Amino acid sequence: MDDRVRELLERVRSTAVDLGEAAGTTARSAGKYAGQMVDIAKLNMKIFDLKSEIADLLKDVGQVVYDTHHGREAGEGALDALLAQLDEKNAAVDEVKERIAVLRNAKECPSCGNMCGRDDHFCKECGAQL
Ligand SMILES: [Zn+2]
Repeated sequence: MDDRVRELLERVRSTAVDLGEAAGTTARSAGKYAGQMVDIAKLNMKIFDLKSEIADLLKDVGQVVYDTHHGREAGEGALDALLAQLDEKNAAVDEVKERIAVLRNAKECPSCGNMCGRDDHFCKECGAQL
């Protein structure tokens, strides 16, 4: 491995802690991805889209590393920005998957829209029969 690429990777490692601390914030703000979607098929499509965005970002990261290897620096913040976007997209995938898991084990109350357990007979929010 040449020195330029090693330096780049050192820099990535040195920012890893900060990004880790920021990940909690990212995960909380990722709620917008699943939102109020109740359709599992749509949520699965969202995951598919996010994964293809992640693949594109990983390709860009690879390009930055390869450019660095050839002495073409992509600018100090370029890689950090890509990694931050990757953290956000991955957190969003987790959040959408969680939403799917909840939906698979839940049914919606026809009266108030509250998510209830699949085996519940009455809504615990409004008492309507399910
Ligand atoms: Zn209800």
